[in-house]
Amino acid sequence: MLKEEVLRLKREKNAVILAHNYQLPEVKDVADFIGDSLNLSMEAARTKADIIVFAGVYFMAETAAILNPDKKVLIPDPGAGCSLASSVSAADVLEWRRRHPNGVVVAYINTYAEVKAVSDYVCTSANCLKIIEAIPSGRPVLFLPDKYLGLYIKAKTGREIDIWDGECHVHAKITSPKITAKIKLYRDAEVLIHPECGCGTACLLELPKMGLSPKFLSTEGMVKYVKQSPARRFIIATEVGIIDRLEREAPGKEYIPAAEDAICEYMKLITLDKVHRSLKEEIYRVVVPEDIAKKARLAIERMFEFA
Ligand code: SF4
Repeated sequence: MLKEEVLRLKREKNAVILAHNYQLPEVKDVADFIGDSLNLSMEAARTKADIIVFAGVYFMAETAAILNPDKKVLIPDPGAGCSLASSVSAADVLEWRRRHPNGVVVAYINTYAEVKAVSDYVCTSANCLKIIEAIPSGRPVLFLPDKYLGLYIKAKTGREIDIWDGECHVHAKITSPKITAKIKLYRDAEVLIHPECGCGTACLLELPKMGLSPKFLSTEGMVKYVKQSPARRFIIATEVGIIDRLEREAPGKEYIPAAEDAICEYMKLITLDKVHRSLKEEIYRVVVPEDIAKKARLAIERMFEFA
């Protein structure tokens, strides 16, 4: 069977498989670690394996390669892109820097290596608030590339920041009318929202007026939250792949997607078949040129101080 074959190859080659929360269940079944971008980067930083198969999208595999210059990092399908990461280039960042010589650039982890290399900090949804709050007031800040996460940060911290006008086409589909419709159907459910969602700030301001306390969490935060919550039912506002992870780790509860069509086709490009081929043939290797990797590594390591 393919699954057993993957497990055998993994042992033989001293390989590790890291799978993002949005991956297909068949891929999660062979993974050593399942997590969000932050957790997987931390696993990539401490692994003793010789080969890392990154079951996720390209910028994530690049992050693993930046943190492990001596290891072979493979992605089962190099076409696994990201609409959000593609929305900003290093030239865009350098242009903002030219206009703000004293400025600080905070790049969400969903960016390509070239963008990380010209940023001061990398962040995830789990630590973005802490990082922005630690920047001395008076210094201009550019947050990129996710405008919804940027607006959420601005609303939470009250800080004036420049926000790049990028979005994830999947999370943009999760709008506040969709969440409100689900809340009306499932009045006893707790509402968990990833701040990348299109509804982020509207929900932050409007749902408390309906007597609700939505929780804004990274996908990893959602996993931790449902485990300890006494609630039996949750409305989940993020890519639907997280629901499989929630069911694995906190079974017996009901998870309702805020938007059934919030499916990332890039994540779903990675299949068990491609993971198998990737391990067997040791393809497709992700290499980041060392001059870019060195600068990007600095920005990522600054993030780990806030992890
Ligand atoms: S869900 Fe959105 S942000 Fe995440 S990989 Fe897909 S396109 Fe990129």
